Amino acid sequence: MTIHILGSGSATPTVTRNPTAQLLEVSGRYFLIDCGESCQISLLRKKIPLLKINHIFISHLHGDHWLGLPGLISSMHLAGRKLPLKLFCPAGMEQILQTIFSHSETQLQFEIEFSFHHPTEKKVIWENADLEIFSFPLAHRIPCHGFLFNEKKRLRNIRREAIEVYNIPVEELINLKLGKDWLHPDGRIIDNRLLTKDPKPSSSYAYCSDTEFAPHLASYFPEVSVLYHEATFTEELIERAKLTYHSTAYQAAEIAYLAGAKKLLIGHFSSRYKDLNPFLLESQKKFANTCLVFDGFSLDF
Ligand SMILES: [Zn+2]
Repeated sequence: MTIHILGSGSATPTVTRNPTAQLLEVSGRYFLIDCGESCQISLLRKKIPLLKINHIFISHLHGDHWLGLPGLISSMHLAGRKLPLKLFCPAGMEQILQTIFSHSETQLQFEIEFSFHHPTEKKVIWENADLEIFSFPLAHRIPCHGFLFNEKKRLRNIRREAIEVYNIPVEELINLKLGKDWLHPDGRIIDNRLLTKDPKPSSSYAYCSDTEFAPHLASYFPEVSVLYHEATFTEELIERAKLTYHSTAYQAAEIAYLAGAKKLLIGHFSSRYKDLNPFLLESQKKFANTCLVFDGFSLDF
């Protein structure tokens, strides 16, 4: 997996931070997560072809998370898109887009397949053979959802040399990859670990968009490889965080700690902060493996 941060700011942009947008790349597929203003420009800077994005996830309807979406869809239309676009979003998004495109007399040449968030529980919203994607509710001023991208467990890798030694038929290999032992024609049971190697560990990415501090969230993504959690304020503005249903850097770190995450990314910084170092120091008091994100940041994991 690779995460690309297209926008790391919150409500209002600054000269260095656009509102929230991220792109997760999994085995050549692109998943766009939120689409704040300037998302398109950040995609251009990253040289991501717009038409390769087939899945978009919008966490909630505050403008800093979706105001780039009508523009992005318009550009896809102008670029000749024909393939349907899957849009996972709150129900109101459909009406917003219909209103915009009806008043601009834009007849999209492709279908938008809407899928609306489930209000109260963690739920699989998309999957294929390698990946499953969940949404889960966050605790914000308006309905808001996070997303978990989970690579499915990989098959075990065959040890070619052992296969030759035991002369195992090709049709048995799938059972070995699934972890089964091999029953030799002479009656011996050959331990699977002699015949296969561990696969590369699977990765996962959890995205906690806008939310107040809610410890139960950690149960939605146990032992996640990389957790992104908003950190709009530092602890000195904890009352402001409560009032606006946002989190502090320390609270983000507590969620990462409770979830047993391997790495924490924090972003969605309030535009009032010029120096972000206090966010890092505060978060690292609770969770050492924290990283501040910035526009253009990418991480492979
Ligand atoms: Zn919000």
